[in-house]
Amino acid sequence: MVTAKKRKRRPVTQAQKDRSAASRTGAREALHAYAVLCLTNPAELEHFRDIAASIGWKLDPASDEPGYSLQNALLLAAQRRPLTHCGGFDYWLSQGRAVAEGEKSLGTWRHVGRKKTDEEKAKEKEQAEDGWQSSKRGPRYYVKKGTFDVAQTVPRARCPYCGTAPAGEDDRTTQCPPDCAVFAPRAGSKPPRVIVVELMQAQLLESDEDGEE
Ligand SMILES: [Zn+2]
Repeated sequence: MVTAKKRKRRPVTQAQKDRSAASRTGAREALHAYAVLCLTNPAELEHFRDIAASIGWKLDPASDEPGYSLQNALLLAAQRRPLTHCGGFDYWLSQGRAVAEGEKSLGTWRHVGRKKTDEEKAKEKEQAEDGWQSSKRGPRYYVKKGTFDVAQTVPRARCPYCGTAPAGEDDRTTQCPPDCAVFAPRAGSKPPRVIVVELMQAQLLESDEDGEE
């Protein structure tokens, strides 16, 4: 019984493949360097836990709960620090803010294709137990650009916290003062230290695993 709709796929050009591979490699390099930094400097590790608490994190990447997977929190922090509150272009518009002129977006890992249902996962497991091997060709994740920290955004209208207002409709440079409450870290729960350390140690091993293309 097949109920899933077939989606037409646009052919992927070699240039797109190259760009995608380059951004994955760049992300892995940034992660590797950041993991080394945190594992050798306890203050950096604690800073990461604070960042994760502020931007919001979740243990299960597949869950629909709000927040970033720890892997994504790590990738975001590897690209920019400090971070206090992250979101996409449209999210910031919904918050009455706009991405400031000249700001470059941060990347997060995205899963290729839709999420597997529990049924499909169970079936795969059953088949694996029967000796079937799932083909693991190609990347399962890609880097999706488009995330910005609040410090990369400016008020679109009068800021409700500090009263700063843009000079005109197209003004994307007038920023709130650094002490505006919009930049304040949020109080969230920190990810357990042991899990963070495990995740960072895994980054050091994973660098070799992407050589299959
Ligand atoms: Zn403000």
